[in-house]
Amino acid sequence: MEVKQKEWWQDGVRFQCQGSGKCCTSHGEFGFVFMTPEDRKRMAKALKMRTSDFTKKYCQKTGGIYHLIETVGKPDCMFLNGKSCTVYEGRPTQCRTWPFWPEVMNAKSWKKDVVEFCPGIGKGKIISGNEIEKILSEQKNSEKGFGK
Ligand code: SF4
Repeated sequence: MEVKQKEWWQDGVRFQCQGSGKCCTSHGEFGFVFMTPEDRKRMAKALKMRTSDFTKKYCQKTGGIYHLIETVGKPDCMFLNGKSCTVYEGRPTQCRTWPFWPEVMNAKSWKKDVVEFCPGIGKGKIISGNEIEKILSEQKNSEKGFGK
């Protein structure tokens, strides 16, 4: 019988957003804020717009995948005001699931791309392994909607 190895985060990880706004600023490979159909619908609703109008005004496609428009030389997300998200209630999935993204949940990326970058790591309450699993699958499922 195959025994599944315990993940390093299964006993939980301490994390609480410190409102630094750092994850709302483009930094290299994690630059784009990707937008699934659900994300566009939710954000449009928060802005009291039709989804199609929202998509036209705020989104563009790169490699067939929708994301919020980025302006050259302006790394901040267009919905960031100071350190706050102006559409917090309607923010996209990847903003809700950070920092528990499948691609950073290996020990090396976690240290390099998350711990050294996000001031919320090690602060606040412990997010249990079960909660992390749920967040990871929410993010994974949302990625299936990229490009739609
Ligand atoms: S939508 Fe809001 S939470 Fe997401 S990157 Fe932009 S400002 Fe940050």
